[in-house]
Amino acid sequence: MKAVVLFSGGLDSTVLVSHLLSKGAEVRLLSIDYGQRHAKELAHGDALARHMNLPRKSLSLPDLGDLLKGSSLTDDSVELPEGHYAEESMKATVVPNRNMILLALAGGYALSSGFDTIAYAAHAGDHFIYPDCRPEFAEAMEKALGLADWEDLKLYRPFVDKTKADLVKLGTELGSALEMTWSCYAGMDNHCGKCGTCVERKEAFELAKVPDPTKYEE
Ligand SMILES: [Zn+2]
Repeated sequence: MKAVVLFSGGLDSTVLVSHLLSKGAEVRLLSIDYGQRHAKELAHGDALARHMNLPRKSLSLPDLGDLLKGSSLTDDSVELPEGHYAEESMKATVVPNRNMILLALAGGYALSSGFDTIAYAAHAGDHFIYPDCRPEFAEAMEKALGLADWEDLKLYRPFVDKTKADLVKLGTELGSALEMTWSCYAGMDNHCGKCGTCVERKEAFELAKVPDPTKYEE
């Protein structure tokens, strides 16, 4: 398998890379600045890529955020919700059509590189709030990507039935640098510990019974 990985520098996509490498895949990373509030993850992605000695393409499209208003991740006028990921309020963090946009870009990169696969790290915990992390979306997107070019392109999403705690366990087994990953949406020096993704991250380490290496703001 030759895979372009949508790589945010977060925990999920970092474990995905370890998983792919353990399967002997050739991997290229693609990180995209789409105007997200938490652009800090991109610096972590850069450091992780160097740590793993993998090629990483960084695509800078911050103006994309102007087209994707209304989400607390791309629109400063929308307040970032605190609390548990599964709550209704977390829908404020849905970025309109984000995964179709990002996967389309990754698809172009994969095809032009002669790669046969795009990989993304959507997992079961994402489905509650992110419609574009649903298995049905991934299936339809794979079909569309296959029709978009004469070459076949697979959309590899091995985590769609796994929980975030499963990913912490898997990443620990595979030796992923989980301590270098960034999850928080708030954009402070350390993880805020209160936003949906911080709460989810903390909970995942607890459920996995793995010591949490993350520094949280007090
Ligand atoms: Zn946070």
